[in-house]
Amino acid sequence: MSILVLNCGSSSLKYQLINISSGMCLTKGSVEKIGGNEAIFSYEIGKNERFKEVYQIFDHTDALTYVIKSITNPDHNILKSIDGIAAIGHRVVHGGEKFTESVLIDDGVISEIRECMELAPLHNPANLQGILVCMKLLPDVPNIAVFDTAFHQTMPDYAYIYALPYVMYTRHKIRRYGFHGTSHRFVAERAAKMLGKPLKNTSVITCHLGNGSSICAIKNGKSIDTSMGFTPLEGLIMGSRSGDLDPAIILHIISKEELTVHEANSMLNKHSGLLGISGNTNDMRELTESMKKGDKRAQLAISILVYRLKKYICGYLGAMGGADAIIFTAGIGENSAYVRENSLSNLEFMGIKIDKRKNKSITGEGFISGNDSKIKILVISTNEELVIARDTANMLKKRKK
Ligand code: AMP
Repeated sequence: MSILVLNCGSSSLKYQLINISSGMCLTKGSVEKIGGNEAIFSYEIGKNERFKEVYQIFDHTDALTYVIKSITNPDHNILKSIDGIAAIGHRVVHGGEKFTESVLIDDGVISEIRECMELAPLHNPANLQGILVCMKLLPDVPNIAVFDTAFHQTMPDYAYIYALPYVMYTRHKIRRYGFHGTSHRFVAERAAKMLGKPLKNTSVITCHLGNGSSICAIKNGKSIDTSMGFTPLEGLIMGSRSGDLDPAIILHIISKEELTVHEANSMLNKHSGLLGISGNTNDMRELTESMKKGDKRAQLAISILVYRLKKYICGYLGAMGGADAIIFTAGIGENSAYVRENSLSNLEFMGIKIDKRKNKSITGEGFISGNDSKIKILVISTNEELVIARDTANMLKKRKK
């Protein structure tokens, strides 16, 4: 059974076709710059064949048409026809408080996704657009929505309510929602397997450290707290997002620099974080190289990231009353031995001991804790598309029963 996984942005569409029994990705790709004369359609078949084509692509309908043509192209030898697509799994960023798990999409779900649009004005409209285009082009194929926020709906109210007038929650739905839910869920499930414990008896801290970063406290398999909040801006320092700061700073800067709301938003999301501190790049590889060459601002950017990560890890250990493991995932989490080692340094008093040699040499997934570390430390490669594909296949099974 093959599942098409779609992630639609305002001018982009990313996809993967996944064989659910093997978990293998048969083909994947993206269409960027949709709406322009020179949209770029890039795709891979298997592991070795890569293609890049430029077309005039006016909208998401056009984009998906190219994707379907590529998937069913006899020369590509992927699927004989669109009948080979059993279902489509859509990444939907915001499910508000309505969606606590993935759902089969019908008219009711569509209007509820619409209702969540004001919470994710940049993402949900594009996600919905992708769903509507699929319904138009592939009317017989079921669509399933998988939400970034759903996994965190188990947080208790004292973790998700902000200390604002309560009416801000009831009137404007202002609360912590959390994001990256599919990734945190995937690595927590994988960690439970690696630890040889049922997920419902496993408590872990998952550190998703990429261009966007968040950390999650997962107690007995359920998210009880996470660092991203009302939007993906809160929490850890990210590539170009500030993470936590004193909210009064924003008011101060708006008045001092005479910024519009749009400009302030852009500063916080696109010009802050690692990029803002270093003044140079949001790329951890480049920052690490610059730090080794003695660049003080690169060093400072990484030090702040590591310091704040450590504070979150220790805070979540307190919130959970301990944990079985700490997991690192995503671009930085999977690849930066420096970040892993330094964010867990001097925590032996809490039962956390990293094995420096294993940490430096690890490739792929595995344990990097010392044998005497009470809390295990793991590196796991995240795979959000596989979670979406599996949820989609499970929904399909339920529907057939
Ligand atoms: P992601 O958003 O998960 O793709 O992660 C992107 C981040 O991972 C960027 O900051 C990259 O510089 C970082 N990254 C990727 N590979 C490495 C590596 N080998 N060492 C350090 N950072 C890396």
